[in-house]
Amino acid sequence: MNDLQKETTVVLVKPDGVKRGLAGEVISRFEKMGLKIIALKMVWADKEMAAKHYPESRADLMKAIGEKTLATYEKYGRDPKEEFGELSAQKIGRMVNKWNIDFITSGPVVAILLEGAHAIDNVRALAGNTLPVFAAPGTIRGDFSIDSPALANAKHRAVRNIIHASGNPEEAKYERQLWFREGEVVDNYKRTDEEIMFE
Ligand code: GDP
Repeated sequence: MNDLQKETTVVLVKPDGVKRGLAGEVISRFEKMGLKIIALKMVWADKEMAAKHYPESRADLMKAIGEKTLATYEKYGRDPKEEFGELSAQKIGRMVNKWNIDFITSGPVVAILLEGAHAIDNVRALAGNTLPVFAAPGTIRGDFSIDSPALANAKHRAVRNIIHASGNPEEAKYERQLWFREGEVVDNYKRTDEEIMFE
């Protein structure tokens, strides 16, 4: 079996998605897309768990989040100094990261482990742009959120974008062991589409 066909990825329905009653909708969309659920549970993460999911120690990640944040200020012709003062991209990233930790611990999340062909990229495509204001209609974030970094930063909170999805194979591997014990994974069954699509 081609490894790409068995790729796994982690999706979290974040507290906004759960509290808005969108968990079923999110699960259903990934199911219909053709991905196989191999683990599923509800978790109310504590700060320690959240800090492992959004690790401040990853300087590269913090810088990348900060740079993305600054790029949206440029796009809207706004001055990031109004919100963040003279902070570097790195420090802005750390601040956004803290808002992410506050948000993901503010209520339960539904954690889903999905398996299937190009699971990581297929999930990211259906999730849509990180920032709902730029997410295409038809994607989960485009259909169910209208939030933007301009609104979120002004209130010092994370952008409400319904789901988290692993960004690449390293993240998927890390997040799989962070959110699931191997005993919780049930992957020894077949979906009908496996035969129709790939055999
Ligand atoms: P993701 O992998 O698509 O979730 O995107 P990132 O790793 O870049 O960002 C992590 C999370 O931070 C996102 O899902 C958003 O909830 C939040 N976020 C991203 N960019 C911004 C921003 O510019 N401002 C604020 N307030 N939150 C942001």
